[in-house]
Amino acid sequence: MATITKEAKYDCLVFDMDDTLYPLTSGLNLACRKNIQDFMLHNLHIEESQVAKMCLDLYKEYGTTMAGLKELGYGFDDDEFHAYVHGRLPYETLKPDPVLRSLLLSVPQRKIIFTNADKVHTAKVISRLGLEDCFDGVICFETLNLTPTLNFPAEKITTMTDDDLKSWTSEGRILCKPSLEAFETAIRISNIDQKRTIFFDDSPRNIAAGKAAGLHTVLVGSSVLVPGADLALESIHNIREALPEIWQDGEQFEPVLAATSAEAVVLA
Ligand SMILES: [Mg+2]
Repeated sequence: MATITKEAKYDCLVFDMDDTLYPLTSGLNLACRKNIQDFMLHNLHIEESQVAKMCLDLYKEYGTTMAGLKELGYGFDDDEFHAYVHGRLPYETLKPDPVLRSLLLSVPQRKIIFTNADKVHTAKVISRLGLEDCFDGVICFETLNLTPTLNFPAEKITTMTDDDLKSWTSEGRILCKPSLEAFETAIRISNIDQKRTIFFDDSPRNIAAGKAAGLHTVLVGSSVLVPGADLALESIHNIREALPEIWQDGEQFEPVLAATSAEAVVLA
């Protein structure tokens, strides 16, 4: 008798990186915010009394403070901003995480990082955590904002220089989570089926946007559910207990004869 293969429920896991693959208590988030505020004060000459509130308001409104500053018309080089903000982070607080590494390596599905951070910061964090060989792809700031085929009219791509690319993107709007467009672009370029993909993020608004984009969603860093979250995990280390179906691939079973079939009646 032929066997029927039941498909695995999921074929891709998408992970945010900062405060999702390592805990908020590392202090990186706080240090990063301080550096952004210093950049606003010293490089953009924003009034000191306004900086903290503006930093938070823009983050809430535009997804990242950087995206908000660009939207308000502040002109600065993206790489310079990232170097200033991430260059002085206390990366030494991040330690290799062999527990997470072996969990990720045992996951049979594709694994992708989807972060608003730039590629230098992403590489440093992943290296510090010892997770370099755990992912099949990374979607970061440069992927969404410096990919000519996504942001440029097709006829211009071949004639543009690197400087053209830079000026085009630094004048344009920044694409980042939680915008639905950022999710849709990430889904398209990584060629995933959102109905068969689980998205992990520590940010409730990213979770809500991920749900709106059709993904299965898991809030990380809190056990309290938020709107749009299918599941909430205190730590990414808990995924095996919370989502055992990730490891259940393609069960095979014998088809059961329908009770109404002639054969079943005769054999009964
Ligand atoms: Mg995060």
